Amino acid sequence: MKTYQVNQEGYYGEFGGAFIPEILHRCVEELRNSYLRIMESDGFKQEFDTLLRDYVGRPSPLYLAKRLSEKYGCRIYLKREDLNHTGAHKINNAIGQALIAQRMGKNRIIAETGAGQHGVATATVCALLGMECVVYMGKTDVERQYVNVQRMKMLGAKVVPVTCGNMTLKDATNEAIRDWCCHPADTYYIIGSTVGPHPYPDMVARLQSVISKEIRRQLAEHEGRDYPDYLIACIGGGSNAAGTVYHYIDDERVKIVLAEAGGKGIGTGLSAATIQAGLPGIIHGSRTLVMQDEDGQILEPYSISAGLDYPGVGPMHANLARQHRATVLAVNDDEAVRAAFELTRLEGIIPALESAHALGALEKVNFKPEDIVVLTVSGRGDKDIDTYLKFMQ
Ligand SMILES: *Cc1c(COP(=O)(O)O)cnc(C)c1O
Repeated sequence: MKTYQVNQEGYYGEFGGAFIPEILHRCVEELRNSYLRIMESDGFKQEFDTLLRDYVGRPSPLYLAKRLSEKYGCRIYLKREDLNHTGAHKINNAIGQALIAQRMGKNRIIAETGAGQHGVATATVCALLGMECVVYMGKTDVERQYVNVQRMKMLGAKVVPVTCGNMTLKDATNEAIRDWCCHPADTYYIIGSTVGPHPYPDMVARLQSVISKEIRRQLAEHEGRDYPDYLIACIGGGSNAAGTVYHYIDDERVKIVLAEAGGKGIGTGLSAATIQAGLPGIIHGSRTLVMQDEDGQILEPYSISAGLDYPGVGPMHANLARQHRATVLAVNDDEAVRAAFELTRLEGIIPALESAHALGALEKVNFKPEDIVVLTVSGRGDKDIDTYLKFMQ
């Protein structure tokens, strides 16, 4: 049977794989040999499920948004990842990988972060489990994301400002990889999205797949059938989208719509619409679509939303787009902001700017009245209030 899941070699079609420096081969190989065994063990499953329930607050509600549905002429359910502890879906993955690290005998955690959301989720889990935590962050981002830096410090993490390159996410990732090369024996690198060398994209997708597992059960309760007509999610690296589509990926009754960040517009050079504006290349150990110039130099992406501001995309999503399994829409800054205000005024929910891109896709799809749509609200908008306020008259 045709599948859109990863194959034995770590590829999704032509995308994926593990392109890493020699010195990391053993680390990545060790992870590749253990992740499935650990994740399928009873002890892991029990601890993970218990923490997701009692610490994160899962299952997250599947909420029928009546006024939003009326506006778009279909039945729209919101999957409320914004209600998780720490305010987004990222905690699902951070907890899962920290539990895997423990079982591999590694007690020192490193991570990279751009906007700080993955750094906060990782620092939170390290506090919870009593693990050492070092977070690499570009100096520009350290200055831009003051509150998240203070949260990480309060949680006991060491935040290392990175001063090479543009001093943003790409440079922080390089530093994290360098650290990992120096401490391969005791250190585990928690990657925050479905990116990086195999097995990371598959492992992160599996850890986030609790989202679609819950959607299946909740839809059956609400609608008497366990699949929707449409799934909609935003994509930065792709982890909330991967979790949303995971159990439906090979079910062609379900249409998949992915919203990437169009920034000021794809043609302007100021965007993070990697699938539409990118070309095949290698970034962070994986072959995928990358925003690059003619010489293969990685281009600095732009989006109003820090969480979508990444020049690559997960190999799973590159393949879903290449195979036409998913429709990929670019949602520009102004469209996302408009959609965020619309949700706020219709439903009393302030979404994260990232999630607002998924909402901005609603006006670009022609729904039928009987269509059942599930849209994942990946995070809450408290962190984005300063940006939103600039658009208030
Ligand atoms: C980080 C983040 C994203 C983007 O990351 P994905 O891996 O594509 O999900 C989306 N929404 C929120 C709220 C985030 O914090």
